[in-house]
Amino acid sequence: MTTHVRCGTLFAGDASPVRSDATFGIGDDGKIAFVSATTDAPPVGAQDTVLDYSGLFVMPGLLDVHTHLAYGNAKSEEDIDLYQPMEFRALRGLFFAQKVVAAGYTSICAPGDAGQISLSVRNAINFGLFEGPRITAAGRYLTTRQGLTDWYPTWIGVPDTSIGRLVTNKDEAIEEIRVQVKNGVDCIKLAMDGVQTREDGSLVAAFNQDETTTMVEEAHRLGKRVVVHARGREATLYSARAGVDLIFHAYYLDDECIDAMLKSGSAIGPTMTFPRNIIDFTQAHEPAAIKGRISDVEREYITACENLQKARRAGVTMMTGTDSGFAVTPYGEWHAMELEIFVRDLGFTPAEALRCATSVTARFMANGGRIGVLEGGRLADFIAVDGSPLENIAILQDKSRIRHVHIGGKRMQIPERGYDPRQVTDRSWANWSDLYTQERVRALYPARRHLAAAE
Ligand SMILES: [Zn+2]
Repeated sequence: MTTHVRCGTLFAGDASPVRSDATFGIGDDGKIAFVSATTDAPPVGAQDTVLDYSGLFVMPGLLDVHTHLAYGNAKSEEDIDLYQPMEFRALRGLFFAQKVVAAGYTSICAPGDAGQISLSVRNAINFGLFEGPRITAAGRYLTTRQGLTDWYPTWIGVPDTSIGRLVTNKDEAIEEIRVQVKNGVDCIKLAMDGVQTREDGSLVAAFNQDETTTMVEEAHRLGKRVVVHARGREATLYSARAGVDLIFHAYYLDDECIDAMLKSGSAIGPTMTFPRNIIDFTQAHEPAAIKGRISDVEREYITACENLQKARRAGVTMMTGTDSGFAVTPYGEWHAMELEIFVRDLGFTPAEALRCATSVTARFMANGGRIGVLEGGRLADFIAVDGSPLENIAILQDKSRIRHVHIGGKRMQIPERGYDPRQVTDRSWANWSDLYTQERVRALYPARRHLAAAE
């Protein structure tokens, strides 16, 4: 039995030209059996089905290499690490993974989550218990005192339920990598820097070169890819020299970093949607605004655009991801914003951005050689879009235009189900973002009777 998919336009995900009036066939194994002009396609047999997508733009399912399944649309790091039990976070992660599929994303990498949440969600989907995206799963970030995810003061430490795992020397790091690999992760995540800076403002790398190289070699020896968080120049350089497969952010890269990346083959996942959304969405009363983060992030964004354009021109590979899982990047909402940013701010053509989000990003994914391109032998993960993203890349953010999503040939039908964030995520004890001194209260509420007698 073959399913014949008639495409109005077919964008295969690789460098092959866009075709009109093409048809591809899907076998019972969920793989693409043939791709051809509709007139040359094998005849439709009595048992076969035809999907008439002749009015639609058909392309491989989109890929997001940076979606944290267990963060739960968090408003704070404590939301991520503390307030919900691990078991609930896994169930919640599955619910949100389905929202990602509904937005046209058929594969994600979950690069750093507490416990075994991401790989459990991955397995539940792979074993056929639930529908959801293909997931490339990491375990906890390996971090040090200077790295992301060691958020809390030294007298609290890194709780067991945290997304980070504090390692204090190379032996502990190697042991943690071996444990995670035994548990079945697809990749290892390193927190290569955090927020600690020197007097000149430069970000401190959390691991030194020797430690980084040791961890990357061990992960590679065990057959796993390595992905890192590295915003600063130093962390980016150490990662590139060590042959890290994928570097998130790399906003302060320089020519030395670019040379090292070209030599070792490290790709960049710029993840520009996260800072862009902080700049565009944060409201004046929110803590991020009060702490001055909007202007800080905006400055960094402008620097990042210049540096990443330089890296793109030099030929560094770029993959698409969004840091979805925060309150500014809720699941299923902004994944395709990254493609718009690739086109608008990083100098990619729409076709290049689409290739980045399909065949190129597939290179980092587990079994990536089986997805990302619509060609014979690959899995039939594809979407049918109303309109051409080659003409307007932003239409991919319009969920009403993502008409059909198929994974392994099977059509996904995800129910549109709402939820109450106050029950699901917002368990923090934080209550106020202002300080109500007499002066402040008078400024805020001049018409009220408060303290009128004192004036
Ligand atoms: Zn992240």
